[in-house]
Amino acid sequence: MTLIVQKYGGTSVGSTERIKNVARRIAKFQSRGQQIVVVVSAMSGETNRLIALAREVQAHPDPRELDVMVSTGEQVSIALLSMALMDLGIKAKSYTGPQVRILTDSAYTKARILKIDEDKIRADLDAGYVVAVAGFQGVDEVGSITTLGRGGSDTTAVALAAALGADECQIYTDVDGVYTTDPRIVPEARKLATITFEEMLEMASLGSKVLQIRSVEFAGKYKVKLRVLSSFEEEGEGTLITFEEENMERAIISGIAFNRDEAKITVLGVPDRPGIAYQILGPVADANIDVDMIIQNVGHDGMTDFSFTINRSEFTRTMDILKNQVQPHIGARGVIGGDRIAKVSVVGVGMRSHVGIASTMFRALAEEGINIQMISTSEIKISVVVDEKYMELAVRVLHKVFELDHVS
Ligand code: ADP
Ligand code: ASP
Ligand code: MG
Repeated sequence: MTLIVQKYGGTSVGSTERIKNVARRIAKFQSRGQQIVVVVSAMSGETNRLIALAREVQAHPDPRELDVMVSTGEQVSIALLSMALMDLGIKAKSYTGPQVRILTDSAYTKARILKIDEDKIRADLDAGYVVAVAGFQGVDEVGSITTLGRGGSDTTAVALAAALGADECQIYTDVDGVYTTDPRIVPEARKLATITFEEMLEMASLGSKVLQIRSVEFAGKYKVKLRVLSSFEEEGEGTLITFEEENMERAIISGIAFNRDEAKITVLGVPDRPGIAYQILGPVADANIDVDMIIQNVGHDGMTDFSFTINRSEFTRTMDILKNQVQPHIGARGVIGGDRIAKVSVVGVGMRSHVGIASTMFRALAEEGINIQMISTSEIKISVVVDEKYMELAVRVLHKVFELDHVS
C-alpha cells in the first residue's frame, strides 16, 4: 500500500467550502487504496491576523507567547478538516505538532525539527484513519510550543514524509507547480515539469516562496520524493523536484527569483587595513544578524567603503550597532543605508557548462537603464541588487532574454 503525505496551504483551506473540497480530494485518493497523512496550514490570512493582534498588545511580542498564539491557526484547520472527512464517512483524526511530538529546538518563531515520533500516526494509518497534522509547529524539550518560521507547513510535510518513509510528499497550493518565476509578476512564466533540488534550494533561498527553504533541504537530505501541485485542479503532474542526473536536456537558466526583504548598508571611509571586515561585521554577527551580500571596494589613500545587505527587518538594529559601536571605534567617515532595494537572481545548473551568462544578464539590465548596485555569484546563480522600483522590470527583462517566456 502506498503512503502519501499531502500538504494544503492557506488558500487551499481558506474557507469551510474549500476545506470540504480538500476532504473530497482526500476521499478520492483514499478510495484508490492510498494511506494519507495530510498536513494543513492556517486558513489564509489567519497567521497574519494573529501576529497583528499580538502586536496590538506588545510592540515586539514575546517570541514564546507569539508561538503559543500563532500555532492556533493550524489547530483550527486540522479539526475542521477531520470533521469534513468524517462527514464523508471517512475515519479521520487530527493532531497538533506537540500531540504528534514533533520535537524541535527552542528557537521560537524559527525552530528546527529535531525528531518526530511517528508511532501514533502509523498505528492510526494501519487502523484505516486519515491523519491530519497541524503544519508549522512543534514542541521543545521542556514542552513549550514552537513554530517553524513563515511557510513552515511545507517543512512539517516533508519531515513527516521522511519520518514515515512515505512514497511521495505532495505540496498542494494555489499554483499548479513551480514556474520559471512567480506567475503573479510575469504572466508569461512557464510551469516546469521538473527542477533539481539544487536549483529549487537556490530559488527558495533567493526569495521564491512557493516552498519554504527548509522543506527543500529536508527533501534533499532524506531523499523524499517531492512534488508541487494545484489544489484547485483535478488533474496534472505538477512539478517534480529531482536529482540532476535525471535532467540532462534542460535550459541553461531554469528560473528567476526575487526578494524585497533586504536592506543595504554602507560604511564610508574606513581605513583599508587587515581586520576591518571583522571589526565591522563582528558586532553584527554577535547580535545574531545574518549578513547576505558583501562588497569592499579597492581602497585609495588608505581608505575604502564597505557595503553589505541584511534582512530588512534588521535594518534599524544594524544601523544602530554600526553608528554606536562600530563607527566611533574604527573611525569611519559615515554610515548610510536604505531599504528600498531588491535582489534579482537567475538560477540554473546549466551555468556550470556555459559562459557568458553574467554578461548577457548585465547587458539586458543596462539596456533598460537599470543600475546594478551589488553582484554576487555562485556556481549555479547570479544575483544583483537593484533599486526596488526596477525589480519587476528586471525580472521581466531577464525572463525574456533567457528565453523563459511561454511561447503560445
Ligand atoms: P501556500 O499558502 O499554499 O503555502 P504560498 O503563497 O506559500 O502558498 O506559495 C504559492 C505562491 O508562491 C504562488 O501563489 C506564487 O505567487 C508564489 N511563487 C513565487 N515564486 C514562484 C515560482 N517560481 N513558481 C510558482 N509560484 C511561485
Ligand atoms: N501559517 C503559516 C504561515 O502563514 C505556515 C504556513 O502557511 O506554512 O506562514
Ligand atoms: Mg507556503
